[in-house]
Formats: sequence, structure tokens, C-alpha cells
Amino acid sequence: MTLFDKLTQERRARLAAERLRDHHLRREQALSLEHDRLVDEVRALREELRRRGEGSPAPVGTRDEAEMASIQALASRAERRLWDSINTIHDGFAVFNERQELVIANQAYLQPFVGHPEVQPGIPYSRLAEILAFDGLVELEGGPPRDWVERMVARWAEDPIPQAGLRFAGGRTGRMLDRRARGGDIVSLVRDTTAATRHEAELHEARRRAEAASRAKSAFLANMSHEIRTPMNGVVGMAELLGDTPLSDKQRLYADTIRSSGEALLNIINDVLDFSKIEADKLTLQPEPFDLERCIHEVLILLQAGARKRRIDLMMDYDLFLPTRFLADSGRMRQVLTNLVGNAVKFTEAGHVLIRVVGMEAGEGSQQINVTVEDTGIGIAPHQQDRIFAEFSQVDDQVNRRFEGTGLGLTITRRLIELMGGRIWVESELGRGSCFGFSVTLPVVEGEAAAHAAPGGGTRVLVVDDSLINRTILERQLQAQGIEVRLAESGAEALALLLPPCEARMDCVITDQHMPRIDGSTLLARLREGGCDLPAILLSSSPAEPDAGSDTSGFCAVLQKPVLRRDLVQLLARLTDPERAEAGSISRPGAAPGDAPVRHPRFAGRRMRVLAADDNRTNQLVLSRMLASLELDLSFADDGQQAVDLFSRTRPDVVFMDISMPRLDGRAATRAIRQLPGGARVPIIALTAHVPGEGQEGVLGTGFDGVLTKPLRRNLLIDALRRNLPPGVSPIPPPHEPGAAAEVTLGTG
Ligand code: ADP
Repeated sequence: MTLFDKLTQERRARLAAERLRDHHLRREQALSLEHDRLVDEVRALREELRRRGEGSPAPVGTRDEAEMASIQALASRAERRLWDSINTIHDGFAVFNERQELVIANQAYLQPFVGHPEVQPGIPYSRLAEILAFDGLVELEGGPPRDWVERMVARWAEDPIPQAGLRFAGGRTGRMLDRRARGGDIVSLVRDTTAATRHEAELHEARRRAEAASRAKSAFLANMSHEIRTPMNGVVGMAELLGDTPLSDKQRLYADTIRSSGEALLNIINDVLDFSKIEADKLTLQPEPFDLERCIHEVLILLQAGARKRRIDLMMDYDLFLPTRFLADSGRMRQVLTNLVGNAVKFTEAGHVLIRVVGMEAGEGSQQINVTVEDTGIGIAPHQQDRIFAEFSQVDDQVNRRFEGTGLGLTITRRLIELMGGRIWVESELGRGSCFGFSVTLPVVEGEAAAHAAPGGGTRVLVVDDSLINRTILERQLQAQGIEVRLAESGAEALALLLPPCEARMDCVITDQHMPRIDGSTLLARLREGGCDLPAILLSSSPAEPDAGSDTSGFCAVLQKPVLRRDLVQLLARLTDPERAEAGSISRPGAAPGDAPVRHPRFAGRRMRVLAADDNRTNQLVLSRMLASLELDLSFADDGQQAVDLFSRTRPDVVFMDISMPRLDGRAATRAIRQLPGGARVPIIALTAHVPGEGQEGVLGTGFDGVLTKPLRRNLLIDALRRNLPPGVSPIPPPHEPGAAAEVTLGTG
């Protein structure tokens, strides 16, 4: 660069700097003027404000100022209203800031702190808690005041803050509901629960009284039922025994009427008791393992007498592949079955009553069981079918009026089924018959099915029965056990098959007794005449009452219909197993109930020893008379203590034990016997006058092996003995029904 160029550049820079300085100077002057103008304006405004403040009318009010004023007025009115409202409410309300210091609180909140001048805005929440606790303003739930304060303070550290109850010294109660608000504030609400707590306490008390009254009512009903059933045991039992003695027709009619009236009365007592329990929602189930097939069988056996009188066939078809042991309230299940089968027998003049049981896997070790009770009776018109499940409802027509009943049975049955989680239905055709069905899902009891003997495969059996249904049921039951079955529908057909020239090869004949033309015993006589010596089993609806002139002694066994398939199969096994027959083995320990004894000439055992404890002399008499036809060694104890004493002396095979007795009751006596030598294993069966499920709680759990309800039924008593028959003891013949011609005479007892 030349010297000239350098000088030119320097001059330009100096000129630019001078221009910039002039510009700044001008700007400073302008700002100064503006400042002076603003100062004047502010001064004028102040003057204006001052003038207004002195009350002089504002000559010039801007719009903004007017709005501001009205907003301020509105805000303060709203604030005032809000606080008035908050103060009027019964509940305490307060706001605390982020340091947990009181900002504001309504009168209700501050009310407990009256007389504590330090309670002002700014007081910490923890101090309020201290005043409440240490000055005795609240009840401390038993702990020291410091703990209570710490609990109250600790609450506020949680999120959300948990509720807490307060019980003030004067008896009032409150509930603290604290919430976090914006900016760390906490809004605290103390809801007054005094009225609600008092109301709750009153309700609690009312409920306690109602429950006590209901318990008293239930206890009263149970006691009444017990008190009525005990003498009824005498009436029904004695009438039953009277019917077994030689009587004139007139006397028999009287005895039968006493018995049936007694039984009807008992049914009414049971129905009314159950119904009142259902009404009070007091009916509960007590599930226990039980055998459904056996339960149905026992019900059928009990109702057999009534059915036989009218020549109605009672039949059972139990699904062969369905387990038999389930968990359910066996007493209630028996009640349902008794009602349905009882009705079927009651409303059927001729034909049959068939109980079918089928099942389906329902998962988790349960089965859905469908039970149907089908009869060929009077039927129910379609429009009546819905109504019969309602309480006190009976189909009221000329035909039906002949039958007695309370009209409660089906209501109770429906409620019991519903309680078991099932449902019940009816299908019926007037004049043709009815089919009542119910379905319940029950847990299967595994591993308890007694492994029973089955006859060897290939055993051949001829079944002779004029009833197609019976033939089919027996065929299916036996085939399922691997038995070859041939069927004959009459004695003549059986004779043609077994005698020359046909001489079909068979191992056993099973024949019905009641058949037209040739009955079971005549068939056997003809077979023997014809040289056929096959073992034969007789099926009879009343084994103890053979038809006049008929001889059943040639049969290996007489089984009561309907036959329990297990009994039949066991019997066949023993008949077709020569070793057992040789050994004369009639029963085994733990033999199945109804285990039919095989008649064997070489057998001779000792008598079964039975000890019965009952403080009521009439009951003793009834029991002794009911068992009189059996060859037993029966001893009686008048109370529990005597039962314990007699146990060691008599060494009974089975004990019947009344529950309520003086000195030592049945439970205590049983416990004592269980401690004695041989007492741990002896079967002890409780006798109770309570209806099933009522007052029986724990009977099975307290060392008893079974329960029988009074009035005692001879069938069930004998069944219990047969169930508990030990080895080496004379067999007990199958039970028969009241009125059967057993050799029973009334003595002094
Ligand atoms: P009840 O004590 O009168 O037998 P239930 O409740 O058991 O009371 O039955 C109600 C009514 O339903 C009976 O009175 C009868 O009219 C009718 N009923 C029940 N079962 C049958 C049946 N198997 N056949 C015909 N009618 C029946």
C-alpha cells in the first residue's frame, strides 16, 4: 500500500467515528425529553389519584379501573360466601401450606381447639396433633400420646394420605380425609361420623338381638322336634311291632292306622322344621363322603313296603361307569331322594317307579350327576307343573285329594338341590306318569371304592325276570363285570333252556320271585326235579315274606330288590369261587352292607353281640322288639356310664349309642369306650332324635361310625348290623319291612 492510500483510509475512519458520536448524542437528547414527559405524566396521575382519594369525584375514570374495582368486589363477595358456606358445614375443613402450617380452617375444624390460643394460622400440623393427644382431646386407641402423634404425622408422609378415624373425648367421632393440593398444600377434611357411628352401633345391636332370637327360635324348633320325635318313636315303633303279631283284620287296620298316622305326623314335623330353616336362611349343607348308589338303595328299601302293597316295581338303574362315592350332604341327598321316590310311589297305582342315575365328567374330579325318578302314576297336568315347586302347593283335584301331604316336600327338595348348586325339573303327562329329575355336580371321592371281588371272567348266568326293564338292567350290570348273560322272560323259557334237551351250560341262575304262571321258587323246584343242580339266587321284593306255600330254602341266597349291583357281583364271585364256598366264608371284616350271606350247611357261628345304650325304657323296648327275630346277644345300658361299664364285660360286636343321656352322654361314653381295650375298633352307631343335619353336627366327627335317626326303622337297624357283621358270627338275614310276617311277639321287654 502507498502512503497516499494509507492517509485516505485513516481519514475515512475518523469521519465514520464522528458520525457515530453525533448519532448517540441525538438519541440521548431524545431519551431525556421522553423521560421528562413521563415524569410529568406520573406526577399528573399521582395528583389525580390523590384527588380521588380525597373524595373528589373522578372526573376522568378509565374503563380498566372501573372493571378492576368491580372484579375486586366480586372476588371478595365470592370469598366471603365460600367461607360462610364452609363454616356452616358440620365437617372440619382446613388448608395447610407446603411446610404443613395451618393457612386457614373453618369453625368445625377449630372447634376441638377452643381454649387453645396458639391455634392460629401458621401453627404446624404436628403441633395440632400434639394438642389433641396430650391434652386428652382424643381417645388414643390404647397407646401413649407420643405414638399417636407420630402415627398422625407419619400419615402425611404417605401418598395418597391414608384415612384415619378420630374419636373425640366427648364421644363424637370423625374421619380424616386429607388430600394433596397444588404447590404442596394439603387440604384436610374431618368428616363428622358421630351420627353414622351411632346408627351403625344401633344396627349392630339390633342384628345381634335378631340373631340371638333366631338362634333361640332354631334351638326351640330343634328341641321341640326332638321332644316330639322321642315319644313318636314309641308310637310308630310299637305300632310297627304290633302289626307283626297275630291280629284280626280290624286290629291290623287300627295298628296300621296308628303307624301311618305317626309317620305322617313325623313327616309334617320335619317339613315344617326344614321350611322354617329355609325361610330363616339357616339351612346349611354338611358334605361328607357317601355312597350315592347305596343311599338310593336304602331309600328304595325303606319305601319298598308301600310299593309292594300296590304291586309297584321299584327299580334302580345306576350308570355302570359312574363312580358311586361322592362328597355331599348325605342326609339331605337322602331327603331329596326320599321325597321324589316317596311321591312317585304315593301317586302311582300300578306299574313301576324307576330311578335312573347317569353321570358326566365335569372336570376337576367332579361328576355332573343326573338322577331321574320315573313313575307310571296319575301324572300332572301341564298348567300345574310349574306350581308344584311352590310352597304349600298341591295339585288340587278330585284324584289328588285322596293323598295326604303338606305340599312342602317339593319346595324343600328344590331348595336343597339349589343349595347343592343344582337344578330340578319335571316332565309329566296326565294319566300316564311323571318323571322328576335333578342334576348336581359333586366331587368324586377317590380311592375309597372297596375293591370288591368279581366273579371270574367267562362266568355264565341266566337271568329270569318277566320285567323287561329289570332284565335289561341286570344284563348290563353283569355284562360290565365280564359275565356272560342269557335272558329268559318266564319260568317256562328258563326251564326250556336249562333242562334237556337244550341243557344250556350255565354257572348260575338268577330269578325273580314274582312272575306270572311259574314263580321263582316253583322254577327252582322244577329245575331240581329235572336234575339241574345249578346254584340259584332269588330276587324278591320281600325276602322275609315269601309267598304262601313257596319254599326258598333251595336258593343259595335271597336278595332284596332292587339289588345293589355290588352285592350281586360279590355274591356271584363267592358262588363261583369254590375255595371260598369250601371255607364257608360268609362275610369278611368290613363287608359291604347288605352283603348277602350265602347259605351253607356247614356254617355255624356265634351270635352277634350288641350293646344298646338308651335312657328311655320305651326306646329300649322298641329296639329289643325290632331285633327280636334275629339271633343276637343284646344287652342294654340305661346311660352312658353303664354302657362304658358293660362294654368291657360284654365285648359287643357293635354298639348303638343314644346321644342325649343322663350321667354320661353318648359322645362322652363313646370317647371313654374308645380308650378301652378293643374299644378303638368297635363300630359305634349314634342314635339321635334330631332330624338329619339338625343337632347332628359333629356326630360323625366325634368317633361314631354311623348315625340312625329316631324313630328307628327296623330295616335300617338290621342293615347297620349286617354292615358290621364280624367274621365267625352267624349271618343276619336281610331286612324286611314293617308288617312282614316275622316271628315277633310282644313280651314284657
Ligand atoms: P306333598 O306333601 O303334597 O306330596 P310335594 O311338595 O311333595 O307335597 O308335592 C306337591 C304336589 O305335587 C303333590 O301334592 C302332587 O299334587 C304333585 N306331585 C308330586 N309328585 C308327583 C308325582 N310323582 N306324580 C303326580 N303328582 C305329583
